[in-house]
Amino acid sequence: MDKKVFGGTNAVKTLVAFAILGGLFFAGRNVFLESREQFPIYPSSGLTRIAHLSEYFEGVKGTAADGEVYVFDSGKPGASVLILGGTHNDEPSGHVGAVTLVENIRVKQGRVFIAPRANASGLTHTTPLEGFLDRYWVDTPGGKRWFKFGSRYTNPVYQWPDPDIFVHHQSLQSMAGEESRNLNRCWPGRPDGTYTEKLAFAYMELMRKEHIAIAADFHEAPLEYFLINAICYPDKCSKVAMGAEFNLSMEDLDYTMEASPGNLHGFFHREVGDYAETMPFLMETPNPSQGRFHGKMTNDLIVTGRDGNYIKAGKLGRLFVDMDEKGWPLSLRVARHIKSIEEIINSFNELNPDQAVVVEGIPSYTDLVDKGVGAFLHAPEKL
Ligand SMILES: [Zn+2]
Repeated sequence: MDKKVFGGTNAVKTLVAFAILGGLFFAGRNVFLESREQFPIYPSSGLTRIAHLSEYFEGVKGTAADGEVYVFDSGKPGASVLILGGTHNDEPSGHVGAVTLVENIRVKQGRVFIAPRANASGLTHTTPLEGFLDRYWVDTPGGKRWFKFGSRYTNPVYQWPDPDIFVHHQSLQSMAGEESRNLNRCWPGRPDGTYTEKLAFAYMELMRKEHIAIAADFHEAPLEYFLINAICYPDKCSKVAMGAEFNLSMEDLDYTMEASPGNLHGFFHREVGDYAETMPFLMETPNPSQGRFHGKMTNDLIVTGRDGNYIKAGKLGRLFVDMDEKGWPLSLRVARHIKSIEEIINSFNELNPDQAVVVEGIPSYTDLVDKGVGAFLHAPEKL
């Protein structure tokens, strides 16, 4: 009798345990699936088509690396430009800068290609132990738009395990193993390489086949990192870069123009220039939500770029940029990216008037800073 009662209690306990485990499984599954949802993009009426990377390199077809490229083709002769946002998915101004362009521009001469989720797999996971938010929200006049805060690395679901040491294939330069999943260490990629190398190779094929003249890669960096507020490029871009620097300085905008060291391999600003006719430029803006000093990760930190610890470090002169109560708002960082590619295009046009690229609808630096980037983003869809 006692045995029976005891057995019955165990059965109930087992049932309850299964119910809890089942609940946890389904809740966890939903969180997992939600983390794979990509933020929405609402292209301007100037969009010609959405291309996929597999059009340029068959090897990514049917994989998560077969990303979208937004094409704005004027149908009139002129050079072609490629812009990447989201090579690193913990650098919000990269995505938001590229999306702002997709949602506003009209191309009147030449062509513009934009990949706002350059390594989309990095948007489907996070960096352990960093306390990152899954999503962040930007105010627009029509409501809040959401963006993803992801990882700087390819999701290990697609490329695993990391080697102890990552050897860059073309140069044999060695790096930490996890860098094998960093798109900005895998250029120029290779067709029979890893997921990340294939992704880089697909973009290289796009640049070669579409004869891209100028390519830009929007990044951010911690305030304690020396290469910041910078535009980095290889020697062959010097003339265009000098013209852009002059144009920017005429508007009192201070950018560090940094020549890409010849012996630093795997980087966009080095290898794209060596393996394609394209002139590559990599832009960095200061991101207080990225470095080691910041406090709790909040939506406010990501969007306003204000953080007490960084303000203190700025007052002590420990940072490579000014930092005070004004912070480094996302709108200002996006404005800097957009202004820099605009002036690079202007400089290219001055040097190559017969191949000029004419782009309308680019939000001005002052408007982005004064009105906020949300004023230039499409209202969210009402569900
Ligand atoms: Zn980066």
